[in-house]
Amino acid sequence: MNTNGRPAGDDLAKRFETAFMPTYGVPPVALARGEGARVWDADGGEYLDLIGGIAVSSLGHAHPALVEAVSRQVAVLAHTSNLFINEPAVLLAERLIGLLGVPARVFLTNSGTEANEAALKMALKYGRSTGRTYVVAAENAFHGRTLGALSLTGKRAIRDQFGPFPTDVRFVPYGDADALRDAVTAECAAVFLEPTQGEAGVVPPPAGYFRAARRICDATGALLVADEIQSAIGRTGHWFAHQHEGILPDVLTLAKGLGGGMPIGACVGVGPAGTIFAKGDHGSTFGGNPVSAAAALAVLDTIDADGLLEHVQTVGAQLAGGIAAIGHPLLAGVRGRGLWLAIVLTADRAAQVQAAAQRAGFLVNAVQPGAVRLAPPLVITPGQAAAFVAALPAILDEAAE
Ligand SMILES: *Cc1c(COP(=O)(O)O)cnc(C)c1O
Repeated sequence: MNTNGRPAGDDLAKRFETAFMPTYGVPPVALARGEGARVWDADGGEYLDLIGGIAVSSLGHAHPALVEAVSRQVAVLAHTSNLFINEPAVLLAERLIGLLGVPARVFLTNSGTEANEAALKMALKYGRSTGRTYVVAAENAFHGRTLGALSLTGKRAIRDQFGPFPTDVRFVPYGDADALRDAVTAECAAVFLEPTQGEAGVVPPPAGYFRAARRICDATGALLVADEIQSAIGRTGHWFAHQHEGILPDVLTLAKGLGGGMPIGACVGVGPAGTIFAKGDHGSTFGGNPVSAAAALAVLDTIDADGLLEHVQTVGAQLAGGIAAIGHPLLAGVRGRGLWLAIVLTADRAAQVQAAAQRAGFLVNAVQPGAVRLAPPLVITPGQAAAFVAALPAILDEAAE
């Protein structure tokens, strides 16, 4: 409560609505603090966080390793710009290359969309030097909101009013290897694909799709760009989702879970793709910021030290299995992998499920009209996952009414 007796969250909602551009609509909850997978709103209400700031808060909230790394670094050196070397950024780039296990080069950014901007500029430069004039992306793909990334985003509602775009982007149905083969010719510079489409509703492709994409790109010389912004850093139980198919992309983009809540992204060029950019081709004042880099190192160290990849596989299977075992007329099934799932509904009631879950103390995300996304912190406990599974039938009852 505020001193005027009104709930603090209500006040914040009004001020939010007045002060911000109306890009988001007013969010239903004002979060004030968190601990592990639990969060509290501005009025003290407690929730289990099953969305993790959109697959970002890998270590949950207020994780001691993240607090320590960020506090230590900000007290020593908060910023250098790209005019000077900072060691956390170098360590992070080396760490990412080590996780891939192959020669690669890294460009650090502040967000996902910037990582994709870098990848697209690399594709354009590569295309210019090899006579390749277009790129291929997937229908319903989400690659970001800045103009380059938006040109790759295959959702008409969010792109059409900002076009036409300077890059020739050709869209193919996601998961259809034959359509991809037809679209990718020797004039194609790059293929941008998510290993599983996140914003489209956690939609995995058929098994073998990424292997087929790899073969198609190898045959034509197009770069395979894996947008792993939502799928990497343990989300699916592997460091990177492309590892499920045993292939390597030429370029990979990262962000969301990498910083555990601190803004950081990366564009990684594997092998020759690591040196497409030459001096002066790209830059960022904040990219590779030492505080964000220290946070990312703490995330990677903790995933390693605490065995979180195995934990994600176990708790993810428990969560998916528990949901799948619920018989309910509104529940069509569950899809996804690791701690990245969609509860698929038999009707367009995702908004109602999100609202009912919130009233029951669980934060979930109505990612599509008929699909509810779960992307909890990787540290969510089996008990917390079980509590959600136990509460879900009543949430679905309420949402179905
Ligand atoms: C979130 C997301 C982006 C954009 O990241 P921002 O940090 O919001 O710019 C791009 N691609 C994918 C797959 C994403 O999930």
